[in-house]
Amino acid sequence: MNILVLNCGSSSIKYQLLEMSGEPQVLAKGIVERIGLSMGCLAHKNNRDEKYEIEQPVPNHTVGIQLVLAALTDKNHGVISSLDEIKAVGHRVAHGGEYFTQSVLLDADAIAKIEACCDLAPLHNPAHLLGMRAIMDVLPNIPQTAVFDTSFHQSMPASSYMYPIPYRLYEQYKIRRYGFHGTSHKFVAEKACKILGWNIEEKKIITCHLGNGASITAIKNGKSVDTSMGFTPVEGLMMGTRTGDLDLGALLFIMEKENLSVSDANSFINKKCGTNGFSEISSDMRDLEAEAEKGNERAELTLQMYAHRVRKYIGAYAAVMNGVDLIIMTGGIGENSCDTRRRVLNDMEYLGLIFDNEKNKGIRAKDEIISKPESKVIAMTITTNEELVIAMDTLRLVNGK
Ligand code: ADP
Repeated sequence: MNILVLNCGSSSIKYQLLEMSGEPQVLAKGIVERIGLSMGCLAHKNNRDEKYEIEQPVPNHTVGIQLVLAALTDKNHGVISSLDEIKAVGHRVAHGGEYFTQSVLLDADAIAKIEACCDLAPLHNPAHLLGMRAIMDVLPNIPQTAVFDTSFHQSMPASSYMYPIPYRLYEQYKIRRYGFHGTSHKFVAEKACKILGWNIEEKKIITCHLGNGASITAIKNGKSVDTSMGFTPVEGLMMGTRTGDLDLGALLFIMEKENLSVSDANSFINKKCGTNGFSEISSDMRDLEAEAEKGNERAELTLQMYAHRVRKYIGAYAAVMNGVDLIIMTGGIGENSCDTRRRVLNDMEYLGLIFDNEKNKGIRAKDEIISKPESKVIAMTITTNEELVIAMDTLRLVNGK
């Protein structure tokens, strides 16, 4: 049974077709880019490692979806012979506001609510809706689902999600902390508990999703109780190009000194800061590590700041939950950067964590324990897979569960 997973942006459509009958397998994946520009393109790769690229104008999402479906059924590079072989379509949706606490089958009510959240995610939700409507045009009878970045964090208590601003702003505009990366935090916590033979309902877990975007979540008894991203994905950790936590007064000062408009300031905090902006070297951890290794002091300081902020959140979340049983590192950096893991998890004996530096060294993109056997708190690397979560949730929902 094949599930098509879509992540639609304003000018792109990322897709994966997964076969979900037995052990899930990716049959094909790819991306349509530059939708709406004079020339667009599709890059497609199938499970025989064959690549297929085309360039042509892609005026809108409907044409983009048609290209994706044509690539999937192409007689040379395709992986299915007919569109009937796609059972359902699952969409990644950035923002579900306070409406959604879990993934849902799309119907008129769900679409209206996703639409009502456009104000909260103006770059993402309208694009997801374009993708959903494009599927309705091209495959009108296929079931579709929405899997939200925010829904896992809807269990946070008000004391975690409220900002100390006038309450009426929450009532009027729904300004509060929402959190993101929820599918990943939930997935890695459940996967680790399965590996350890633990009941998640009895455990305190801190999940560190460290990719280009990065966030940390405190999960108590299987529920998110706090997370580092807030109203937008800018809050929290230092990221590839986003500031993370920053004194609001400093932002106002910068705006005044540099004559930034609101839109300039938005681009500044999202695109011009973080590890890239600070180091003036790269947003890519591998480049920063290579430069630091060569003795570049700015690169070294960037890596120190990055780890320092992750450590602070781990300490804070252990405090929030009155302890921690398991710390998980995931995302491109968490899964692959031995150096970042060492900088973050070393010297945490106060917490009951005894890090295994030797074991940590060789681990890349694997599910492994990286604390010593005598450690009270376990640390693990766990590989995340957001597309797989979307496909699994979609399968569950279309099967009526
Ligand atoms: P996204 O948030 O875009 O999905 P990823 O989760 O793929 O991002 O993470 C991208 C980050 O992972 C980049 O900073 C990259 O440098 C880092 N990364 C990937 N492989 C390694 C590696 N071997 N060592 C250090 N960092 C790595």
